[in-house]
Amino acid sequence: MNIDKENLPDSRGYFGEFGGMYVPETLMAALTELIEAYRIARKDDAFINEFRKELNEYAGRPTRLYYAKSLTETLGGAQIYLKREDLLHTGAHKINNVLGQAILAKRLGKTRIIAETGAGQHGVATATVCARLGLECVIYMGEEDMRRQAPNVYRMRLCGAKVEAVTSGQRTLKDAVNEAMRDWVASSRHTHYILGSALGCHPFPMMVRDFHRVIGEEAHKQFIDQVGRLPDEMVACVGGGSNAIGFFFEFLDKPEIRLVGVEAGGREITQGNHAARIAGGRLGILQGCKTVILQDEHGQIDPTHSVSAGLDYAAIGPEHAYYEKLGRVEYAYATDDEALNAFKSLSKAEGIIPALESSHGLAYTIRRAKELSADKLICCNLSGRGDKDVQEAARVMGETV
Ligand SMILES: *Cc1c(COP(=O)(O)O)cnc(C)c1O
Repeated sequence: MNIDKENLPDSRGYFGEFGGMYVPETLMAALTELIEAYRIARKDDAFINEFRKELNEYAGRPTRLYYAKSLTETLGGAQIYLKREDLLHTGAHKINNVLGQAILAKRLGKTRIIAETGAGQHGVATATVCARLGLECVIYMGEEDMRRQAPNVYRMRLCGAKVEAVTSGQRTLKDAVNEAMRDWVASSRHTHYILGSALGCHPFPMMVRDFHRVIGEEAHKQFIDQVGRLPDEMVACVGGGSNAIGFFFEFLDKPEIRLVGVEAGGREITQGNHAARIAGGRLGILQGCKTVILQDEHGQIDPTHSVSAGLDYAAIGPEHAYYEKLGRVEYAYATDDEALNAFKSLSKAEGIIPALESSHGLAYTIRRAKELSADKLICCNLSGRGDKDVQEAARVMGETV
């Protein structure tokens, strides 16, 4: 199979039949400006160098490639490596993308940033970077999520951001995206919208992917330098799909390396109980993008469930839908219980507390390592740290903090 990855998406924003720009006409001027600015910036050394400098000096790149010796020995199968995105400033991979888009916004002369957030991780990364770069920042967050994630609301406000409570719909992530879009339609002359995953309308899936490609590029070099060869299998959790696409992209044209995205299996794969789009979804359009979506027979978006807020969304990024269809990337899922077990296993074996999102990738990695012989190498992208999750994990497992 030959994937011409550098020419994806096409000029209209499509990965095969997935992607595109399903937006109101009022947004087309802002998107056209962004597409053109990014087309020039991605080839401009000044932009690339400033982005790299911020990634290193502010976010803390490169992140370590870590051999999980104790976990490997406990399981007795393949050797497990972790790409430590949890060590980045603000505790997850999300800051890679936020830095890229914020620097691009400044080039465009924008002085104000807006973003949506669900659990608050993207909101915190955005507020942080806006403080660093001197940009005004407004975060849209569902009222229900603000209640559930009060410490993150406080963090954003500490960094000088305004947090706007969204009171429409179910008052969660999907509603926050709608409000941010509404703001952008009216404000795009001086405002940039930093979308938080490899989702939405063109050019966001491409831009967000590009800003995370550094994860896989570093892993490639680190495997050669530290281990002397590349891994046999690579695993990442998939919400919208930004950490996974950033991790996989470098290796797409190496068919000998098996790539596996892990979705949230929730309680079980029945309507309303999970967020495994590949396992339970079909083609549709949501928030600017044609992709695989969890929906009922009338095309109404299904409610979703996952123990990890970051994987709890009804649509998967269009580039993932495309590689799944081509058969280049495989998609599996881990249930809430499996993720919680992995959360405990890594903490106990290595003294590393993973985010509940990342724990889904780990759960699959643990399951798979046991099936493979000790000469195989499997690498899991540890997308974030779990400090934010200890309270919720303890509650779900019926333990006290
Ligand atoms: C937001 C988040 C995710 C899910 O987002 P992707 O775009 O699929 O990467 C995964 N892990 C962590 C730690 C997150 O904060």
